[in-house]
Amino acid sequence: MRKIREQDRLDLSIVVPLYNEEENVNLLHTRIQTVLETIDKTYEIIYVDDGSRDQTYPLLKQIHQQNKHVKVVKFRGNFGQSAAMSAGFDAARGDVVIAMDGDLQNDPIDMPRLLDKLEEGYDLVSGWRKNRKDKLIIRKVPSKIANKIICSVTRVKLHDTGCSLKAFRSEIIKRINLYGELHRFIPALAKIEGARISEMVVTHHPRKFGKSKYNITRTFRVIVDLMAMNLFMKYLRNPLRFFGKIGVMFIVFGIISSLWILYRVYLFNKPLTDINILLTSVFLFIATGFQFIVWGLLADLIVKTGKRKSIYLTEKIPINGKSFMKSK
Ligand code: UDP
Ligand code: MG
Repeated sequence: MRKIREQDRLDLSIVVPLYNEEENVNLLHTRIQTVLETIDKTYEIIYVDDGSRDQTYPLLKQIHQQNKHVKVVKFRGNFGQSAAMSAGFDAARGDVVIAMDGDLQNDPIDMPRLLDKLEEGYDLVSGWRKNRKDKLIIRKVPSKIANKIICSVTRVKLHDTGCSLKAFRSEIIKRINLYGELHRFIPALAKIEGARISEMVVTHHPRKFGKSKYNITRTFRVIVDLMAMNLFMKYLRNPLRFFGKIGVMFIVFGIISSLWILYRVYLFNKPLTDINILLTSVFLFIATGFQFIVWGLLADLIVKTGKRKSIYLTEKIPINGKSFMKSK
């Protein structure tokens, strides 16, 4: 986790990932800025350009030049929404971080209410698109099913885990490592960190400009991530428990069968050579068991001490002669 100097701290960071959103950029910024001016907080807006090929980045750059509250992170390629959000969270200096989509489907007008809810004593407040304005068959239905599965697997009860509009306390969001499509599971990942989670009904608009970046294949990727997530939730902190259980099972089985063989040898006076192969395989069981335990120990070591490779690569953008974010 990057340390933030005390004098650099802010009350609030807004993080917005953008990929080919040229028609939305200016309007989005005006809306965010208008709302932020009504609340008495120090803030920054971090726009992450996820390798757009349209005018998104030049427009963001213009906004940045006119507004000292705006930071822009530019990716070298399209690394995906999770990576873009992750870069925004890494750069954030606010005590509270609000994430939202950059296509105007989320409405910045909900931000003050999210902050109020957080103040009630939560670490994460997740938006709930109760009146969602997306297509029924290809978007809302798969999303409802996915939400049900995600909730039952991760045991975090929310109506709408897929809503990007969320507010977090920075100490929680900065501990979360996102990859794949994991931004959908932020509440579950936050729960692992001990977060108190709540949800709030938020406004949702149909997409007016630009196209959605996803199609139905996303559902499959989400399911794969969900399986990884399930393992994560159970064993991320203690892989030794996962491998250890298997190891112990092998060892117990090995010991019981060796005792049984030895018992037969002594009881029935069978020559040991008769059952040599059996005995060897039984001992192999014990050796395999120990091997699992050693793997568990190694995995434990990696999880607890290993450094993860960054999932994105930023371009250095000279801002007032200094690069704002170091390329990872
Ligand atoms: N996005 C991104 N990288 C991607 C795909 C999407 O940064 O590879 C951004 C996109 O510009 C938008 C947000 O993530 O601001 C949500 O994407 P989209 O609106 O396409 O998703 P949907 O609302 O259709 O689920
Ligand atoms: Mg959208």
